[in-house]
Amino acid sequence: MSELVDHLAELTGFRDRDILDVTLVGALRDLLRPRVVTIYRAVGDAGNERWITRARLGENDAVATADPAWADIDSLPPLGLYPERLQAMKGQATVVTVPGRHSLSLFPVSTDREVVGVMEIETLDPLSDESRRLVGSILRIYRNFQALLDYSERDTLTGLLNRKTFDESFLKATNEPTGIPMAADGRRLPTASHRHWLGVIDIDHFKSVNDNYGHLIGDEVLLLLSRLMRSSFRFHDRLYRFGGEEFVVLMRCANEQDAALALERMRSNTASYPFPQVGQITISIGFTEVKPGDTPSAAFERADKAVYFAKSHGRNQVQSHAELVARGDLEDESKIGDVELF
Ligand code: GH3
Ligand code: MG
Ligand code: MG
Repeated sequence: MSELVDHLAELTGFRDRDILDVTLVGALRDLLRPRVVTIYRAVGDAGNERWITRARLGENDAVATADPAWADIDSLPPLGLYPERLQAMKGQATVVTVPGRHSLSLFPVSTDREVVGVMEIETLDPLSDESRRLVGSILRIYRNFQALLDYSERDTLTGLLNRKTFDESFLKATNEPTGIPMAADGRRLPTASHRHWLGVIDIDHFKSVNDNYGHLIGDEVLLLLSRLMRSSFRFHDRLYRFGGEEFVVLMRCANEQDAALALERMRSNTASYPFPQVGQITISIGFTEVKPGDTPSAAFERADKAVYFAKSHGRNQVQSHAELVARGDLEDESKIGDVELF
């Protein structure tokens, strides 16, 4: 009993979701002594959804392993490859037993809003009813705790990350190790590359949407725009609502052209989307590469200057800060800073 309480205390002691998943598999390994315990999540767009391993711990493992958060979607196994996991995703706990070999117990892992993945526990013999009840209870605590985290880290209207979490996750993402990552099962995983880009997205003439159609319709536009962001960017890109009608994306791309293409896709998806009642909405986007040693506010300011340029040059466009500086349309602040030092 006290071991269980210790594990629950540990489970709710971190505010970092990666650590939370690792703590969860650690708790179940210690409490149930299975051969392997793993948490998988379904990621990607409808039609190309994949399994990403969030945390996996075998009976002899000293530490848990996981797929890197930035894994390339095409390197991950498709959902259909594991029908028993899909069955569990439908909300039902599932057991697959091969007598004498192993028994897989699969439990749905949910947030308040949806089932997001499965927990798979591999044992030699099927889990007892008591053990299954224990897993169910721990997963409920996990869900409640995730809901509390969401409440403090996410914007209530759109469900995107809020501004408060930006600095912390900017520093975490941009300081990740850059070696070739291994999947949890030992596969080598190509990642999307190691360069980071920050895009700032601002709706054009949004005040007139509120003025003409009212705040409720304005809020509906913000919600629909956040959905367009989710479908335009990749699953591992981090999406924020910075407040009002300003959004931010932090992404990994190989080069400036790829970053510009992703943002251009977002711009054109928005311009061609029929917003109910309002009709066409456009956005202006500015972006910049995140440089070594960059602070979140310095990177944001560069991207924001590029947005400002887009606003004063016709709106409904994507502008690169580096390109504007190279063309002489913007001054390079870092050089100005250097000169002032002398
Ligand atoms: P532009 O960016 O193209 O220069 O014009 P704009 O009209 O979008 O400019 P500005 O940034 O000055 O106006 C933003 C407006 O967004 C002001 C406010 O009415 C509206 N707004 C801010 N937050 C919210 C919100 O949470 N809900 C709604 N409905 N409107 C909001
Ligand atoms: Mg604005
Ligand atoms: Mg605006």
